[in-house]
Amino acid sequence: MIGRRSDVLSDYPLAKRLAKEQEDAKYIRDHPESSMSASKASLKRDNNTWAGVAAFAAKHFRPYKSGDKVDFIVCARIDLDHPLYFKDNKFAECIDCRCQLQYRPDVPKGEKICVCCCARRMREETK
Ligand SMILES: [Zn+2]
Repeated sequence: MIGRRSDVLSDYPLAKRLAKEQEDAKYIRDHPESSMSASKASLKRDNNTWAGVAAFAAKHFRPYKSGDKVDFIVCARIDLDHPLYFKDNKFAECIDCRCQLQYRPDVPKGEKICVCCCARRMREETK
C-alpha cells in the first residue's frame, strides 16, 4: 500500500535517528543492485552529499543521463534533524511513510522516498 507504511524513524529515540538513517543509507549504497546517479551539475559541487546523509558522497554516484531508468528519488527529510539544505528546494511527502521531504528542483521525474523507506523496500525485495 502506498503512503500507509510506518515512519521507520518514529520507532527510534531522537538521539538515534540520524545513526539509523546513516545505517540505511549505507545499506542502499552498498547493495549490489543499487545504482545511484546524480546530476552532473551537482556532482561538480565540492564536498557534496545527497539526501542529507554522509554515506551518499559524490564518489558513490555516476552522472545521471537523461532517459536513465529511475526507480526512486531518494530525498532528504526536512525536520528538526534535517535543515533546509538549499533555499530553492521543493517539498514532497515520502510515498511510503509520508514524512516531509526536500529535493532539488532539477531532479528527474520519479517517486520520492525517504532513505529509510527505500532501504526497507530493498531489504524486503532481497529476502
Ligand atoms: Zn518514508
